[in-house]
Order: sequence, then C-alpha cells, then structure tokens
Amino acid sequence: MSLLEKLDTAAAARKAQLPDGLGAFGIPIEETYSATEARIGGRRVLMLGTNNYLGLSFTPECRQAAHQAIDQEGTGTTGSRMANGNYSGHRALEKEFAEFYQCRACIVFTTGYQANLGTISGLVGAGDVVLIDGDAHASIYDGCILSGADIIRFRHNDMADLEKRLRRLGERSRNTLIIVEGIYSMLGDQAPLAEIVKLKNAYHSTLLLDEAHSLGVLGATGQGLVEKTGLIKEVDFITGTFSKSLCGIGGFCVSNHPQLDQLRYVSHPYIFTASPSPATIASTRAALKLLRDGQLLRERLWRNAQHLYASLKEMGYQVGPEPGPIVAVMLDSPQQALALWNGLMGDDIYVNLVLPPAAPDGKSLVRCSINAAHSLEQIDRVCETFSRLYASLER
Ligand code: PMP
Repeated sequence: MSLLEKLDTAAAARKAQLPDGLGAFGIPIEETYSATEARIGGRRVLMLGTNNYLGLSFTPECRQAAHQAIDQEGTGTTGSRMANGNYSGHRALEKEFAEFYQCRACIVFTTGYQANLGTISGLVGAGDVVLIDGDAHASIYDGCILSGADIIRFRHNDMADLEKRLRRLGERSRNTLIIVEGIYSMLGDQAPLAEIVKLKNAYHSTLLLDEAHSLGVLGATGQGLVEKTGLIKEVDFITGTFSKSLCGIGGFCVSNHPQLDQLRYVSHPYIFTASPSPATIASTRAALKLLRDGQLLRERLWRNAQHLYASLKEMGYQVGPEPGPIVAVMLDSPQQALALWNGLMGDDIYVNLVLPPAAPDGKSLVRCSINAAHSLEQIDRVCETFSRLYASLER
C-alpha cells in the first residue's frame, strides 16, 4: 500500500466509526467575544471546552503587555534561543518562573509540548529508563521516544504497579525518570504525589511532574500540585505550559538542580526551533503575576467546577474520579458521546469530544473545562441542558 493509500484507508475507517462526527474536530471559531463566549456556525456559543482556567485571555494587563512588546520588539524573534532569539524578555521570564517556584534554574521553551520533549530527551537517553503513567499526555510519550530510553508504563495512578516495576528494575531504578502529571488531562484526576515521592526516594529514581493543567489551579499561589501537597522540594523537575491558565503559548521547566542549564546545549527541541514571540513572552509575564495573586480566581474556578461536577453526578452521568476544572463525562460508545456533543451544540454549548484512541482505556468522553470567568448562571444553563439530554441518550 502506498503512503497516500494508507492515509485514505485511515480516513475511511474514521468516517465509518462516526459518519457525522468529524465536524466536532477542529470546528472553526469565527469570532471570540470573551473568555467564555465565541461565535461558531453564526451563533453565540458558551465555551465550556477551553483550557483558559483562570479566564485571563482578555485581561487588559496581558493585552497591553503584548501590544507594547510587538511595538518595541516586532512580531517574531526569527531565531533560536541559541542564536539571535534570546531576548531579555525570555531571560526575565525564566528568572520570574524560578522565583515563583523558589527553584534555582528555569528554561523557557517555545511550547508546552516542546518543554516535555526537550526536558525528557535532554535528561534520559539510550540505556536509561522512563517510567510513565498509563494516562500520560502525548508530549510525554513523544519525549520518551525521542530520548531513546526504555519506556515502561505503569497503570494510571496505581502505586502498587509503580512499585512492582521499580523493584523489577533492580539497580537500573537509579537511572530511571518517573513522569507523572499534576492533573490528568482526560479524566481531570490528580496524581498521588506523596506516595510517588516515597517510591522515587526508596528506589533512588528521579521525578518529573508536568503541571500543565494544575498550574494556576492548585495551591495557594497556583504553583500546582507541588504546592497543594507541600512537596516542591521532593520533585526534581517540573514542566508546564503557558497555553492554559496563562493564556499564551510556550512552556517551561524549573528545577533545583543547576544541571538543568546543561539542557540548553543538548536538547534539540530547545535549540532547533525559534524562540517564543515577544508578545507571548510579555503577556505571559503579566499573566504569571495575576496567576500568583489569583486566589479569588481560583475560588471562583473551584466553585464552578464543584457545582458542575456534583450536578452531573447527581443526574446520573458517569464523571471522572474527582472534581476539578476538567469534568469528564464518560459515555458507553462513540455514538452516544457524539449524540451528547450534538445535543449540547444544539443548545449553543461547546465542549470537547474525545474518542478512542485519544481517551484512556478506549473510553468516549465529553470533556468540559471550567474557568473562573464562567458565571453561576452560565453553569446552571449547562446543567439544565445536560439534564434534559440525559433521558434522550440511547443506552
Ligand atoms: N502536557 C499536558 C499534560 C498537556 O495536556 C498539554 C496540552 N494539552 C501539553 C503538555 C502541551 O502543552 P501545549 O499545548 O502548550 O504545547
């Protein structure tokens, strides 16, 4: 089969799985009105599927900072951090992230995806081991492949399985990088960090925590799961993204190990790509301040999340293991998930549709993401629609 025929076969299989489901993926957003509303298909739609957890996307401070950076430094850096793309803003943001986490070192990457790729492939290589959670994000998995290390998965959040695999590694556990996430992107649950730290210490391994979805969301100042659990000193490397709570694009790794800096000279996803634009760096710097001081935003976010989670559960929906800004509704089949997605869109509510193989264990999900800018009235409207649709779902 030729390369193009293989693509045709994959496209046909996709269509057969869900004949009218393809519209749900990559739907065009025609205009964005605010952190909670956009125009889709000519209609004003409530956005319940963005990663804009603190609702900061239209904040005047961030917009002004971005405008000013464009005016002063231009639209793009046109080069790598290793060459002509290392502006004072990139270095200032690294310093600010290091201060925020009270860590010695920080590297800023061009995306969150590249932060994982660059950190993992810089830390481990052939002969080393990566031990990753079964629900790990694709950027973690791809980073592991790029590194050439041996990849072992443990069952999602299953500490007995993690311990079994560490034990089996024998002396190799000392050359093992364990990788987990603060909040998992599909079901919205958190890693049992205290137990993971105990195991990593007992087996002399190294721990990387991806706080992509937990930054801004957990902890008094929004550091993430490390702050909520008080375990920041126990985690070797923290990665995260600017594209969720910080409403920009880019990523970072912070660490107390000064050796992190060496990654700048070996990590291809850091070296062989252009640095983030001045505008995104400037807006991220402004957003980081708002995030750190954003206790009220976090309170609103959690109020909204708990309200939606509890309401959906009460209606009879099968939801993820714990409340949080990602509320995943698990459906019996892709067809049922699509019917629910269509029903919500019919009521001008946008959520994410996640079908196998993207979701763990072959699940089909309708995934809601809550933010601090949603009003209680908006969440109530969502609940009413979910409630009406419950009875109509074919089982
Ligand atoms: N890590 C996790 C857990 C993610 O969910 C994502 C994005 N969905 C990333 C990393 C990558 O971040 P970005 O989209 O900013 O590249």
